[in-house]
Amino acid sequence: MATESKLELRELGKTGMKLSCVGFGASPLGNVFGPVSGEDAIATVREAFRLGINFFDTSPYYGGTLSEKVLGKALQALGVPRSDYIVSTKCGRYVEGFDFSAERVTRSIDESLERLKLDYVDILQCHDIEFGSLDQIVNETIPALQKLKEAGKIRFIGITGLPLGIFTYVLDRVPPGTVDVILSYCHHSINDSTLEDLLPYLKSKGVGVISASPLAMGLLTENGPPEWHPASPELKSACRAAAAHCKGKGKNISKIAMQYSLINKEISSVLVGMNSVSQVKENVAAAMELATAGKDEETLGEIEAILQPVKNQTWPSGIQKS
Ligand code: NAD
Repeated sequence: MATESKLELRELGKTGMKLSCVGFGASPLGNVFGPVSGEDAIATVREAFRLGINFFDTSPYYGGTLSEKVLGKALQALGVPRSDYIVSTKCGRYVEGFDFSAERVTRSIDESLERLKLDYVDILQCHDIEFGSLDQIVNETIPALQKLKEAGKIRFIGITGLPLGIFTYVLDRVPPGTVDVILSYCHHSINDSTLEDLLPYLKSKGVGVISASPLAMGLLTENGPPEWHPASPELKSACRAAAAHCKGKGKNISKIAMQYSLINKEISSVLVGMNSVSQVKENVAAAMELATAGKDEETLGEIEAILQPVKNQTWPSGIQKS
């Protein structure tokens, strides 16, 4: 299947991989943001690939393995060579709980590959490491992932989580080149841009950067976030006001939020969760428009002013302070 658009590709650290600047977050395919039918999932992934998205991210945790199964089916339905797309999945976080032991993550990749119908994944990431022992991640989990790399089941190793301090903790303790990529979320969007401060450090470590949740897991959408969203009532209310302001002037806050997250090219891919063909079209169009016409400075400035009182407000995550 031929792809259509010229969606920008960006190098991911030292991996040699080029990721589409808009990445496909597959957590919605696990019904995390509401039900998605099998046909809609296949059509959504197909449209994403057709429009130039080559990077797909999932986890055994999303929808209790449902996201991996649905994504696997949808990728197979594309009928294109495996080397035409890049897949990342995760290990250590499951609906049953967290387990970053070498034994569990080694078993995990085999289970993931079976669900995804793949022989290898491009990136395997330790999922939300702030919920485990960071010393275990350094001394046990990552060495186990290195063995999986040698076995050809994964090409690159990553770590993910919310508090930014987890990345420096691990990267300062592993041999250089062991961790290829970090995935940060909810820290590079209009309401919270704290990932920016960490970029020079990550570059010095030669680590590729993926930033997820440009819409702050639904805060920066007209429909608002799902029930489980962990933001404070104050942050939710400010984002609601910003979305209403945009709607009032005929603008869509999600488009402006996508464009904001895409501006910094040191971030290789902005992972946005999508569950419909129309969302794929909108998010790719936002990227294309940014590349040709630039951002909507006026509306962005107005949103930033509304969100100023809650700027960089986050929420607790994990079992340790980082
Ligand atoms: P997001 O900010 O991408 O928001 C997703 C929500 O926005 C969904 O409800 C989606 O349907 C909706 N949406 C998408 N495009 C839209 C549009 N154009 N207009 C209106 N609504 C739109 O949050 P997310 O899905 O949590 O994050 C993206 C992806 O990043 C995830 O699917 C996952 O793959 C990854 N991620 C990883 C971690 C981690 O590893 N710890 C954490 C968060 C996200």
